[in-house]
Amino acid sequence: MSESADADAQVYSDEIFDAEAASPPLLVLDRVARRYVQGDETVDVLLEASAVIESGEVVALIAPSGTGKSTLLHIAGLLERPDGGEVYFDGEPTVGLSDSARTALRRNQVGFVYQFHHLLPEFSALENVVMPQLIRGLSAAEARSRAKDLLSYLGLGARLSHRPSELSGGEQQRVAIARAVANAPRLLLADEPTGNLDPVTSAHVFATLTALARASGLAAIVATHNLDLAGTLDRRLTLRDGVVVEA
Ligand code: ADP
Ligand code: MG
Repeated sequence: MSESADADAQVYSDEIFDAEAASPPLLVLDRVARRYVQGDETVDVLLEASAVIESGEVVALIAPSGTGKSTLLHIAGLLERPDGGEVYFDGEPTVGLSDSARTALRRNQVGFVYQFHHLLPEFSALENVVMPQLIRGLSAAEARSRAKDLLSYLGLGARLSHRPSELSGGEQQRVAIARAVANAPRLLLADEPTGNLDPVTSAHVFATLTALARASGLAAIVATHNLDLAGTLDRRLTLRDGVVVEA
């Protein structure tokens, strides 16, 4: 990896927080750095990685394995703190917030979807989508109603009482997407959400994810290796030598 950021790296200055703008970008990664130390070896995964994601944008993150896609999503979703730089959520810096404030922000505003669904095996599709809403404090009736609506929107209205093991891979991922947006986050982060699915199912899951993001106006970053599917999104970013560049 190079020592310095690429010349075409995205770097943003104060003008993105123009006071006259109607609202700040939902997510700004400003020269984010992340390194891992293992024994004597230091791996600089991210070096001044910057990106601006607006509400309503669905952005692909395409880069080879090991280049830092998951690391970037973890930092964007406030699961990890960067070693340098800042992460602005809705215009507010988050690196200096307490752990509990970061957790609260993440719980209320960010949804995650992973390559494997991580649904609770003992619970139905409906219950898996109800659960995070109960934790958030919604009444059981409200949570069930919203879970039904979401699952129906994702084409799973006839699968509400099925357990994960009784669903296909594509159905499981759609339940995971419903769970991720159950609390109406403003940012959806998907880490190779179709990496485990066949091409036809991948295309369907991708299409439902994109439609949902567009309908709800949330911002989404989708890490994927599938260039065809990435081509259907609003923008494509990649990671090169630790910086974000437009693909
Ligand atoms: P990607 O998602 O693009 O495959 P990752 O963000 O998972 O990449 O990892 C980027 C690099 O950082 C890899 O070289 C990986 O081995 C390393 N890495 C990731 N997480 C850790 C960790 N917790 N400790 C040490 N190294 C890590
Ligand atoms: Mg990864």
